[in-house]
Amino acid sequence: MALAAKDVTRLDPTGHWLDLSRQHTLGGSIAFAGIGVHSGALCRLTLSPAEPGAGLLLQLGELRTLSTARALLARVIGTDHATVIDVNGEHVSTIEHVLAALAALQVDNAILAIEGPEAPILDGSAVDFVDGVRKVGLVSQNAERIYAQIVAPVEVRLGAKLARFEPAAGFELDCEIDFASPAIGRQHWAGAIGPSSFHREFSWARTFVQAGDIAALRARGLARGGGLDNAIVFDDSGPLNPGGLRAVDECVRHKALDAIGDLALLGAPMIGRYIARRPGHSLNIAALRALVEAPGALRWVNADGAARPAPILDASDRAFVLAAAE
Ligand SMILES: [Zn+2]
Repeated sequence: MALAAKDVTRLDPTGHWLDLSRQHTLGGSIAFAGIGVHSGALCRLTLSPAEPGAGLLLQLGELRTLSTARALLARVIGTDHATVIDVNGEHVSTIEHVLAALAALQVDNAILAIEGPEAPILDGSAVDFVDGVRKVGLVSQNAERIYAQIVAPVEVRLGAKLARFEPAAGFELDCEIDFASPAIGRQHWAGAIGPSSFHREFSWARTFVQAGDIAALRARGLARGGGLDNAIVFDDSGPLNPGGLRAVDECVRHKALDAIGDLALLGAPMIGRYIARRPGHSLNIAALRALVEAPGALRWVNADGAARPAPILDASDRAFVLAAAE
């Protein structure tokens, strides 16, 4: 199945048409600084261009002790209120919002240099990352883009949570949350994901927390940098933030943003639909693991739908890639 013609080129938020048969990197470097939502520590993140085939590379440490690894599913070591990645023995957390922005804006190759235990939370959304990428623009690279195409459904249940991948003409999401608190309640979003729709529908949606959960999170070493300037805090009557919500369904939009970031850990853009009920990082990662382990669920293709060999994403991920290709 080829990509629908309308998906082969897409307008990016800067008004440029992207050739989605080719890989893209950033047109320059962009730096971000701010506190980490969980650690409360000052964190820095610099995004820079990377070679074709490099993928989204996490780089930790100082100049002489740099440690680099691709942001991939096989390196996920934590999903508790953030996605945590192992970079050769060091851990980096809360990378899902920047990954979502890069993946949705069709950045295939970039270096994410991080100083500190996590990516800065900024305003709790991905809007600053999107604005940064828009500022430097994208550069088309002389390398074919390889897609992970879903060819058979895969479903995972974790208690009341459910996730399902199924074939679709492009990358689509169908997300629903259902909170007991009437301030959040049930919210649903479904549609196709591309650079413009991400910019318009999700990039500004902030992370959220229920006020009653904060003490327990902090006792576990989480949310120590969290506050009203980087998260929506709800009590049962509504948000405590003075400016209120950016949309009545901001919460489900943020969950969709998180899912886009987590799905980027597959290492290739997806052609398929991700359906998630009550999603969180644990569900997204469990679903991705089930997908790559399910025989025959994935096929590697170019933008015209022609079969391609499984890309070797990373030496340590060889087994994972081969399993997915069977
Ligand atoms: Zn999030």
